[in-house]
Amino acid sequence: MATAQDLLSTVFGFDAFRPGQEEIVSAVAAGRNTLAIMPTGGGKSLCFQLPALMRDGVTVVISPLIALMRDQVRGLTEAGVAAGALTSGNTEDETREVFAALDAGTLKLLYMAPERLAAGGTLTLLRRIGVGLIAVDEAHCVSQWGHDFRPDYLRIGELRRALNVPLAAFTATADAETRDEIVARLFDGAAPETFLRGFDRPNIHLAFSPKDKPRQQILAFAAARRGQSGIVYCATRAKTETLAAALTEAGHTACAYHGGMEAGPRRDVEARFQQEDGLIVVATVAFGMGVDKPDIRWVAHADLPKSIEGYYQEIGRAGRDGAPAETLTLYGADDIRLRRAQIDESPAPPERRAADHARLNALLGLAEAPGCRRQTLLGYFGEAVPEPCGHCDLCGSPPDRFDGTEAVRKALSAMLRTGESFGTGHLVDILTGTATEKVRARGHDSLPTFGVGREFDRRGWQAVFRQMMGRDLVRPDPERHGALRMMEAARPILKGEATIELRRDTIAAATARPAVKALVSDEDAPLLSALKAKRRALAEAARVPAYIIFTDRTLIEMAETRPATLDEMARIGGVGASKLDRYGAAFLEVITGATEMPHPARRRLAGRPSGDLFDRLMDVQARLARGEDGCDKPLSCSTSLVAKLAETRPRDMVTLTRLLGERRADRFGQAFLEVLSEG
Ligand code: ADP
Ligand code: ZN
Repeated sequence: MATAQDLLSTVFGFDAFRPGQEEIVSAVAAGRNTLAIMPTGGGKSLCFQLPALMRDGVTVVISPLIALMRDQVRGLTEAGVAAGALTSGNTEDETREVFAALDAGTLKLLYMAPERLAAGGTLTLLRRIGVGLIAVDEAHCVSQWGHDFRPDYLRIGELRRALNVPLAAFTATADAETRDEIVARLFDGAAPETFLRGFDRPNIHLAFSPKDKPRQQILAFAAARRGQSGIVYCATRAKTETLAAALTEAGHTACAYHGGMEAGPRRDVEARFQQEDGLIVVATVAFGMGVDKPDIRWVAHADLPKSIEGYYQEIGRAGRDGAPAETLTLYGADDIRLRRAQIDESPAPPERRAADHARLNALLGLAEAPGCRRQTLLGYFGEAVPEPCGHCDLCGSPPDRFDGTEAVRKALSAMLRTGESFGTGHLVDILTGTATEKVRARGHDSLPTFGVGREFDRRGWQAVFRQMMGRDLVRPDPERHGALRMMEAARPILKGEATIELRRDTIAAATARPAVKALVSDEDAPLLSALKAKRRALAEAARVPAYIIFTDRTLIEMAETRPATLDEMARIGGVGASKLDRYGAAFLEVITGATEMPHPARRRLAGRPSGDLFDRLMDVQARLARGEDGCDKPLSCSTSLVAKLAETRPRDMVTLTRLLGERRADRFGQAFLEVLSEG
């Protein structure tokens, strides 16, 4: 039998397991009941797909989303694995094929929607085809407390008992409550072998920014990522429409998506997003669990999410392929008011509402974090991060902090002296000594607090109030139009028993022409776009999403390492045997073709003596690529390095070695010096 490691590279084209995968694969393959909790993008599917190939019989995969199942079946088929799905989205032909493969005993994975379990005959069918394993994706759907509850998931326990085969459950939802429910309902309370993998997604850059002309902030963020697939999350349906229009106006391909749209247009957006490269979807959270696109390069929140869990889940949709991805979350005092009001007005029981406020507080704590965001975020999920991550906005430029005790006391005093009956705007007027009509009408210009806060301007005070709301020292009262109420936590500060540190807002002015964030170096960029164009053409011809051919990560590796033969191509991550066979030659042609295309560094030298020198150096390099006798490991210098040699003409080995490094100087040094001394 092929080992897991063999299958990983030959079938899936990966040379190493991601953290946690190997242990899970071996437990599942050995037929033990397992529960694996892995973050989105951690690579859960492989943990049942690989064991399915190692075990006898058919693996039944229960998954809540048709689009997701179809996608996985397509991916597996491309990789040469016999897989099929029985869903309501099937054509008759597809269904016939699945049954034929089942009868012939060739099918390894059968995907099924939970509703199917309710249909008569399903159990009989599954008994007949010899099921060896049940895999349950998104297992938290059995939880009646969660947002994704699927009643039909409750039938899975029954199915396991009836078939008497091992079950492997997967989810990204980690809280203990949900975990207990999964164990109770899927495993009849008998604890399965449980794997809890880390929640860090190191390739995702984290950033928050207080709102300041928020539309401009989003447009600038998108402009710096032109042509890359992204999602913008908004709090309201109306905003998805207006923001999508603004992005379109700015020359992006963008569309709106929200729960109020008809099913048809919604499906269209989902399909386009999956299929196209570089589409921006502006959505409410309704654009959620069904998004299974591995190459989403960025996620922006135009409004503050509901909770820290929601935030984590939404940004987690970016960069599932492991290539760099970026996020930006905007927030302001209005967001805090809106989110608090939504919780207060919900029909949930009081304990639940208190828990929701706590989750919102955790997110606000992250927004106003004094240091590394990743440490704060993962700390919330119980994971210690020993060092600042170096890959978030706060690690990039630490916030300016100041002792805010006096400011907070002044703000609280203004609130209390006006009977906790006013919102931020009016309180800021009082503090800054702005005698508006409303201030005068209420006699607030004769309060002792009137004008005591001239050390800050309006914006400064607004930042203070926002942070006070963020730390839950004060809350807007929904019954009194958002008038601020003091919370118990503020009392020690008011009484002078505690101090508080605040952050000065650093609002990076949105530059008019933001630098475009590239995925690869300037030198490799043209090749990467050529590879993407080839991928697009192949994807369109086959009517599959681009990433089914190869993910961004795979193309980036191709552009950077420039394999010159099919053997070298096979070593690229994501290039398994079947894909190598199918697409290897086509992409190789792009790479070798692109190498022959004049490189920008060479074009710069065109018509100059160094241009000729450059060509001769390149010839020498090509001759020695595999050493004097042609059987060493291939080695080359980057094109810009050769151009630099042609321009600076070093004449001695010491200078040359400094430029080339030992290894390359060893291989090419002598021959280069000969050419350079002639030139
Ligand atoms: P999730 O855990 O969210 O279900 P997926 O199973 O969809 O994640 O995997 C996310 C991405 O990671 C996919 O593009 C998949 O091909 C890739 N992937 C999974 N395992 C590996 C691996 N061992 N090496 C490289 N990429 C992997
Ligand atoms: Zn950090």
